[in-house]
Amino acid sequence: MDGLQSKLVHGGEPRPRIGGAVIPPIFQSATYEQVPGSGYHDGRYIRLSNTPSHDHLHEKLSIVCGAEAALVASSGMAAITSTLLALLGSGDTVVAQDLLYGGTESFFSGEVQRWGIGVHRIDACDPDSWGSPPAGSRVVYCEAITNPTCRIGDFKALTRWAREHDLISVIDATFATPALLRPIELGFDLEVHSATKALNGHGDIAAGVVVGREDLVKKIRHCLDHLGGHLDAHACFLLHRGIRTLALRVERQCQNALLLARFLDGHPAVSITHYPALERHPDHHRCLELFGGKGGGVLSFDVSSGVEEAERITVSTQLMTTAPSLGGVETLIIRPASSSHAAVDPAVRIRMGIPDSLVRIACGVEDGFDLVADLVRVMGDRN
Ligand code: PLP
Repeated sequence: MDGLQSKLVHGGEPRPRIGGAVIPPIFQSATYEQVPGSGYHDGRYIRLSNTPSHDHLHEKLSIVCGAEAALVASSGMAAITSTLLALLGSGDTVVAQDLLYGGTESFFSGEVQRWGIGVHRIDACDPDSWGSPPAGSRVVYCEAITNPTCRIGDFKALTRWAREHDLISVIDATFATPALLRPIELGFDLEVHSATKALNGHGDIAAGVVVGREDLVKKIRHCLDHLGGHLDAHACFLLHRGIRTLALRVERQCQNALLLARFLDGHPAVSITHYPALERHPDHHRCLELFGGKGGGVLSFDVSSGVEEAERITVSTQLMTTAPSLGGVETLIIRPASSSHAAVDPAVRIRMGIPDSLVRIACGVEDGFDLVADLVRVMGDRN
């Protein structure tokens, strides 16, 4: 079983099938009977993420990502924060990419620093600027495709640099998904995802994933057990359902995003379009090398005439729904400054390349020409 879509469908499925069920059932039980002679730590309990629902999801995700171990969590942020809290302590430093999802950015500039953990920023696209990490650095953290400016870092150089300096390397691969990027093969120690997005793909649950080195996943799982960020049984069932069609959905989302990016790039109302599959994107060479030329399902563009027009576009589309999130079957449109990055300091937003007039589109699986028609109706045609 070599193909990704086969692994997504068949990897980790319980054998023999439980009661013959082709689809694994929902194990709606918080606790499980103890087998005579077994110890307390052998027992299954939902908060310990060791129920049958968790076991087969962990197995599937390990197979799909080519990783030693996997862990699901109650949200992407639960996966990210448990990972960082398990790996870092007071006096340590985390080396963080300077462009990050707003929630992660707020965590780095808020809680992490209050707990005595230092944050050292790097431009993941420019290895020449990294030098040596500050003393006490333990972890380097980056995003596969940055949200919402779609930059792609030099990950081969980054994992090499992390090994040289004894740092644990962690990548948030939510925007890439396992269908486009293979972080573990690139040498990352850990890969995290908001499975609320493409991994589940149907916009009906919150979930998170950590995959990677077994010793590290074990540590993170211990931390998650205490923080209580486990995934509930019904969400496990839905995540399993969604994962099975990941590669099919991502393929269509990439096609739709490229179609919209080509429409927007050069449109008279748009000053810049951010999408890595466009030839003139600054990281296009890495998109070709690491992502097979596919740019993912999300693109963003800056509206030349300013925030009022950007807001009008955002609320005027009909097929595209004005809502945050991404990776679902329906296309969503937002202004990051008023949603995903609203909590980030406005000056920091500007440094991150997120003006108020930036609009982000997260493509679904509709017919691409209908999505273009939606924009033509609202913005006019290219010429
Ligand atoms: N990472 C990225 C790149 C995201 O875009 C998001 C949410 O938008 C998260 C993490 C957080 O995920 P969740 O909302 O599942 O906690």
